[in-house]
Amino acid sequence: MKQPIKVKELAVSQRINNFSEVVLGYTENEALQEAERCLQCKNPQCISGCPVGIDIKRFIFQITQKDYQGAYFTIREKNNFPSICGRVCPAEYQCRKACILTKKESNFASEETINIHFLERFIGDYGIRNNLEVSQSKDNRFFRFKVAVVGSGPAGLSCAGELARKGIKVTIFEALHQLGGVLRYGIPPFRLSRDILDKEIENLVKLKVEFVPNCIIGKTISLNELFKEGFQAIFLGLGAGTPLFLGIPGENLCNIYSANEFLTRINLMSAYRFPEFHTPINVGKNIIVIGGGNTAMDAARCALRLQKINGLNPNVTLLYRRTEVEMPARRLEIEHAKEEGVNFRFLVQPKRFIGDENGFVKKVICLECRLGEPDASGRRRPVEVEGSDFEIETDLVIIAIGLKANQVLTSVTPELKTDKYKDIIVDPETMQTSIKNVFAGGDIVGGEGTVIEAMGMAKKAGSSIIASLLNN
Ligand code: FAD
Ligand code: SF4
Repeated sequence: MKQPIKVKELAVSQRINNFSEVVLGYTENEALQEAERCLQCKNPQCISGCPVGIDIKRFIFQITQKDYQGAYFTIREKNNFPSICGRVCPAEYQCRKACILTKKESNFASEETINIHFLERFIGDYGIRNNLEVSQSKDNRFFRFKVAVVGSGPAGLSCAGELARKGIKVTIFEALHQLGGVLRYGIPPFRLSRDILDKEIENLVKLKVEFVPNCIIGKTISLNELFKEGFQAIFLGLGAGTPLFLGIPGENLCNIYSANEFLTRINLMSAYRFPEFHTPINVGKNIIVIGGGNTAMDAARCALRLQKINGLNPNVTLLYRRTEVEMPARRLEIEHAKEEGVNFRFLVQPKRFIGDENGFVKKVICLECRLGEPDASGRRRPVEVEGSDFEIETDLVIIAIGLKANQVLTSVTPELKTDKYKDIIVDPETMQTSIKNVFAGGDIVGGEGTVIEAMGMAKKAGSSIIASLLNN
């Protein structure tokens, strides 16, 4: 079996003092060589590993035939945003893990599996460069319908794409001043270039999707008012934008950020381009990031870049209460964070923050942990070791331990049924909520997930909306 084709990346020295994209993607030749490695299995397992069921085997075969246009439309049958997914999908836990080349019992894909995500990115970027676009349906049964989409994250954008392709008139309402949800305010440009994000969104504009930014549904306008304005159905892609905190003493000291706030200031409001953009952000000399997911990795890598840009010696330490194996972050981000100089301390549980006389954080007191039995998530539970207290000096802490449902809309719409986590309850077959003609998908259903999972739910909701519009 031929060795996998490594993707080119910016050297560490070229990337840690800026926000340029790190992974450079395959050239045509590299994509052809990687595609040739695919076994074209009779029973391709990779497809079952993709949350939207892209015909991976077919698009890889089309690459081997240099039929890049065909490959693009094969992907687009299932996925509206291949250039985004090719950059951010945790393929090692999804299609690549299911690929036949993954070693049995592995927690994530083995190195030898086909780099499906890099091939998808190559094809998505080919589509953008060549202005390939799925045309709008000419079926005039749909032209009279009007649907509102709330939230412009991957779920909202994807649902809008599904509906607009049919010729349905779609308006996206977004609380923030820019579109993209986490793709814009959470994931940094060094992982997902803003040109690519903008181009993928432009495709929706070509399908005549309208956008209303700075509009909070539930505050600016209610769901009932949207129906009164003539929208026949509504899709809710509200996301899980509320950060979780540790709930330990000292957590409200100055210079302790939630990762959401820290990343929003940087990625949405361009704090890293201060003073060109007037967004203040504090940069510590000894930065602590707490967590082990993609958010923690993004926060740590942004923090390290900010230190470099501000002429400081990089000193970012990431604390995680389990070990590297249990970390939910993409493997590539963990590798990149290590290469760039983020220090990892595993099996550590913060217990208390200590501040100075002005209320600024100075230290974090921690306990060491060991791994116990697996918990409900299947990962081994961290068990604190009594008497193992130790302290770490710090002047800036970023808490990245998870997110929960955004409740702005649900808190003022009691007829919209939620579960104990305040996630919206839907019929899993149709994504219909407790309110007629209101559908939901993405992180607001079932909690924090992945970009492609959010898109998968939105696609399903899109099909249900189309069916319900035609049947009403
Ligand atoms: P979101 O992306 O959260 O979008 C929701 C949108 O709705 C937001 O723009 C919000 O402003 C808007 N909104 C909310 N309420 C209202 C309202 N009442 N009115 C109007 N608008 C409203 N997943 C991956 O697959 N790969 C990764 O590498 C990855 N990295 C991540 C990094 C970070 C920092 C974070 C936070 C998450 C990451 N994820 C990643 C998870 C992934 O981004 C989410 O699963 C995905 O964005 C969920 O999409 P969504 O559309 O449901 O919600
Ligand atoms: Fe088989 Fe893997 Fe190729 Fe899918 S990507 S067809 S599972 S070798």
